[in-house]
Amino acid sequence: MHQLSKLPSVSRILSDTQIAALVDSHGQTVVTRIVRDTLSAARAAARTGEPVPDVTSLVSRVADTAQTLAMPRLRPVYNLTGTVLHTNLGRALLPEEAVTALVTAARSPCALEYDIEDGGRGDRDDVVAELLCELTGAEAATVVNNNAAAVFLLLNALVRKKKKKVIVSRGELIEIGGAFRIPDIMQRAGADLVEVGTTNRTHLTDFRAAITRRTAMLMKIHTSNYAIQGFTHAVPERELAELAHAHELPFIVDLGSGTLTGLERWGLPHEPTPGESIAAGADLVTFSGDKLLGGPQAGLLVGRRDLIKRIKRNPLKRALRVGKLTLAALEAVLRLYRDPDRLAERLTALQQLTRPEAEIRAATQRLLPDVQRALNALPVTVEIVPLQSQIGSGSLPVDRLPSAGLAVRPQGRKSGVLHRIETGLRELPRPVIGRIEDGALLLDLRCLQRQEEDGFRANLARLSCS
Ligand SMILES: *Cc1c(COP(=O)(O)O)cnc(C)c1O
Repeated sequence: MHQLSKLPSVSRILSDTQIAALVDSHGQTVVTRIVRDTLSAARAAARTGEPVPDVTSLVSRVADTAQTLAMPRLRPVYNLTGTVLHTNLGRALLPEEAVTALVTAARSPCALEYDIEDGGRGDRDDVVAELLCELTGAEAATVVNNNAAAVFLLLNALVRKKKKKVIVSRGELIEIGGAFRIPDIMQRAGADLVEVGTTNRTHLTDFRAAITRRTAMLMKIHTSNYAIQGFTHAVPERELAELAHAHELPFIVDLGSGTLTGLERWGLPHEPTPGESIAAGADLVTFSGDKLLGGPQAGLLVGRRDLIKRIKRNPLKRALRVGKLTLAALEAVLRLYRDPDRLAERLTALQQLTRPEAEIRAATQRLLPDVQRALNALPVTVEIVPLQSQIGSGSLPVDRLPSAGLAVRPQGRKSGVLHRIETGLRELPRPVIGRIEDGALLLDLRCLQRQEEDGFRANLARLSCS
């Protein structure tokens, strides 16, 4: 009891000059609450026999807590995982044009659903629909929150009570991650899944045999996040489209990732484009905005005018719509695709995917001394290693991009040290996210932009691995 009475009062702490400065930046309410919490923690600790802290120590605890609380939860990190479109790190980075467009839309009123020409009400889809049609060859287009929403919405809008069977190849009943499984989505959307073929081989005859009066559509789902290799067969889109049309059914393609132009011109593997599916006869194609397309999170639907119209009339369209920030960024990104010759310089995601290995290796040489210095008190070695980056977000799952990075390895058998370093890197003001593989902590430098290197160095100098 005698010890506890030495603990200063709330008002004593609040009258400290350093605390007054904290109140200026964080506000009275927050600081008072932190002071109370800090004092009760100290009181509880003193009861267990710990020494009572003095005012200086309490004030510095309050300042630390206030600083931590003021840090945004959604903080920038350095993505050194080697996965370019990393879903957990926010997928595609937006190009400057898109950032500017979304900031402008955030700051000012904009013609989101307003027709400037006649002063009447407009449709928010118009912001991007024309561009999407131009870039894919489709008749009509609409946008929702993400591709999962696009698939859900189209199923819900296009199946009917007596015509709700959706025929899909067994080899395409995929799980995307984060609880998006095709069979579950179908069920929730009110569709009945009809599986045809086998895991590795599906033929046109399998589809033909499954069509009945109750069939609503034939659907193809791009197996974006895995590949079946060896003795395989999938039915080409053109044949599926012909079969569907012969039975007056729509043929729908969920493309997952969607890039609007062939990636092979930059030496990347080919990824099917919505334009190709439309040309092959697909009636509707859905794809993501923030995968290979390199834009904001969105689900894009392009295809036949009558089907898009039905989808837009569905009440779920309103529930799944996108906001003006998304539309502003998406419009800016789509505009870049009008000039494919300069796309690799301007579209950040593509810039990262096509970054030459030699340039990444040069970055490792520039940063090796800094990483060595930051870790010099620890029993580890740091060296430059060749690495293989991944595209990510389920795009092109088996393809790898030659890259380079730094490998931190424990000396001797002290493997615990790697986890300490990994934690230390995550606790930096701007967390550095690498990956641990085969007993090494790997930092793939593909996604560290040249102009970020100085900031990276300054951040790294604050590393402590206790
Ligand atoms: C990624 C993906 C989805 C989900 O797209 P989100 O934009 O993440 O909602 C759906 N289908 C396929 C084939 C995908 O690859």
